[in-house]
Order: sequence, then structure tokens, then C-alpha cells
Amino acid sequence: MKNQSFRDLPLSMEVIKSIEELGYEKLFPIQSQAILPLLEGKDIIGQAKTGTGKTAAFGVPMVERIDPKVRKIQGLVLVPTRELAIQVAKNIKFFAKHKKLQILSVYGGESINRQIEELSKGMQIIVGTPGRTIDLIKRGKITFSSIKIVVLDEADRMLDMGFIDDINYILSKTPSNRQTSLFSATINKNVLKICENYLKKPEKILVSKDEIALTKMKQFYMIINPYNKFQALLNILEKNRINKAIIFCKTRVGTSILSDKLRRKGYNARPLHAGFTQSQRNRVINEFRQGKLELLIATDVASRGLDIQGITHIINYDVPVEPPVYFHRIGRTARMGQDGTAITFVGYGEIHGFNNIKALTKTNIEEITEISPILTSF
Ligand code: AMP
Repeated sequence: MKNQSFRDLPLSMEVIKSIEELGYEKLFPIQSQAILPLLEGKDIIGQAKTGTGKTAAFGVPMVERIDPKVRKIQGLVLVPTRELAIQVAKNIKFFAKHKKLQILSVYGGESINRQIEELSKGMQIIVGTPGRTIDLIKRGKITFSSIKIVVLDEADRMLDMGFIDDINYILSKTPSNRQTSLFSATINKNVLKICENYLKKPEKILVSKDEIALTKMKQFYMIINPYNKFQALLNILEKNRINKAIIFCKTRVGTSILSDKLRRKGYNARPLHAGFTQSQRNRVINEFRQGKLELLIATDVASRGLDIQGITHIINYDVPVEPPVYFHRIGRTARMGQDGTAITFVGYGEIHGFNNIKALTKTNIEEITEISPILTSF
């Protein structure tokens, strides 16, 4: 039987806590197939594109298996580009938040001295591009003799970019009893050659296209004067076929006020926040689930864990303060391979917060304007 949620996996409480704070609950297909074998120390080949959740598929077991007491480099992720190095390191730092591991990304185009200084603090996981990693090895600033786990991420791109000799060199500096896994969007002849050379009896994990959850969803944002948010919301509700939507607000009071305003305009809306009793909350959720209620105006706390079919739209009336909450919110739609649309209102004071969200995702969040007629979901 496949594991469905992170809690079904043999993970420590520190790691589970970090993942739950990110808002991840259910496992994405690549995660339900890859995490367990990786925790068991097996080598794997994962065919998966960006957006499938592959970073957690290798990052979570890596964080779990690293010994926090040993201040030596135990994990290495090789990636093709500087952007990916930053992104992957950021994600792994989230997974390791409570385990308090030392993680560093190393890449070209930035001062090597700063990276050397950071390395001297005793890193445990390195996420690096091949060129800069070799540079640091040759300067004697990195030693890989304590490495337990190596991940080759986006292997096909690394090969397309001509990194094969670099990969061979770097792997020759790591212990041969390491665990090695490889992730690649395409598994071609050259990728298989690396697998033959460096992976031991790897398990192959394929993720078919239609299983990919997040890519099914269309994400939009609108930079807006906060005073115009209500009118923009009315425009969206009028112009789009919205059957079931959750509108997220930052505060309890915000949900009640917005819900009242919408009801006055004739919409079937109700607030949901932690100030209501459990039975009141259950009643609202059931009405929403059964389709008797169109618009649920919710705070994050109240909506945690909601699993309701057929939600067509998520509207972030306010930008969430913590970036991971954004992914938790939009995860309410596009469930089970359905399409969904997420729209975020970014008030002038919220632009910085929203940029942090954009930095965290590689999926496209498209900018629209207040008069844009798009936003139809199917
Ligand atoms: P990746 O393919 O690793 O870049 O992940 C794609 C996006 O999915 C990232 O924004 C992740 O934060 C998010 N993500 C990964 N795994 C999960 C999960 N189990 N639940 C919700 N979101 C996830």
C-alpha cells in the first residue's frame, strides 16, 4: 500500500513538524514512491519534472538521515543552475528547520570568499552547481569524505550543459558506499549511462504527467490599491463561473466583514474562523461541501485540513504573512487532478511579502490587472 501522508512515513517529529508548518499534508506521487526507499538507503532514479514535488522527495529523506551532531558535509545535491541551487537549498532549509542542520548553496556569479567563510562554519548539506563545487574542492575548502547521500537533480539539464566531466570528478571525491539518487525530466541514453556508472541497483520511479497536481492549476495575482479589493472581487465573481470558492482573509474580523458585504450584494457567503464553536464550523463546512454555500470566507487556521471536492477557485483577499501558507491555501483546489484557479490580491503594502512567495515557487504566477476578463476555470 502506498503512503498517503507524511505522517504515514517513518520520519522524526522534528521533520514532520517542519513539513506541517509548510502546509504539506498529502504526499505528491513522486514523494509517495521515492521517500520510503530513500529512507531505507536505496538508490533511485526518479523521472520527474519541476513542479512535481521532487525537492521534498529527495530533500525530506536527506534531512531525516543526516546526523545533526556530525558537523561535516554529509549530503550533496548537484544542480545545473544557480537559481535551482538557491531554490533547492531554501526548500531543504525549511525541511530542516527544527532539526537545525547547516545547509549552504554554492554557485558561480557570487563571491567565492563569502561561500568559503560560510563553509568554515561547518556545513552538513551542500547544494551546488558543478563548476563552483569543483572550484571549492580544488581550493581545499570542501571535503566530501564524510558524504552519505548524493543527489543529482535535473541530470538531463546538467548533461546538456556539458557538466559530465565535472560530475565524474565530484563523484570520484565522495565515498563509494554513499547513497546516490538521480532526478531527471527525461531519462535518455546519457542519463542512463550515469546511472549505470554511479547508482547501485536503483529503483526506477516514473511520474506520469496527469498525476502532477500543481501544474494543473492556474495561478494569478493582481497588484491593487487595498481600497479597490472589494470591487475587484465583485468583478471576478461576476465575470467567472465560480461554483465553489474559498476566499482567504488574514483576520477573523476580516472574514466576517467581507462575508456581510458579499451577502448584501446577494452572494451566498459565510465566514469560517476559529472564533466559532466546532459545531458552528461543522455546519458551515457541510453546507459548503454539499454545494449549498458558494463562498467560504476563511482564515488559514480554520481551513487547515479541509478536503473538499470541486473547489474551482481560491482567492487570496490578503497575501499570507508566511509564504508557505500560500501553497497550503492553493492546495485546497486542483485536488485529484482537477483544474483550479488561484487569484491573489496584492495590496501595495503586500508586494514584498508576495515576492517572497514568488521566490519560493517555480510554477508560474501570472500578473493580471483589475480589468482583466480572464480567470475562467473549466
Ligand atoms: P518542486 O517540484 O519540488 O519544485 O515542488 C513544486 C511545488 O510544490 C513547490 O512549491 C513545493 O513547495 C510544493 N509542494 C511539494 N510537495 C508538496 C506537498 N506534499 N503538498 C503541498 N505542496 C507541495
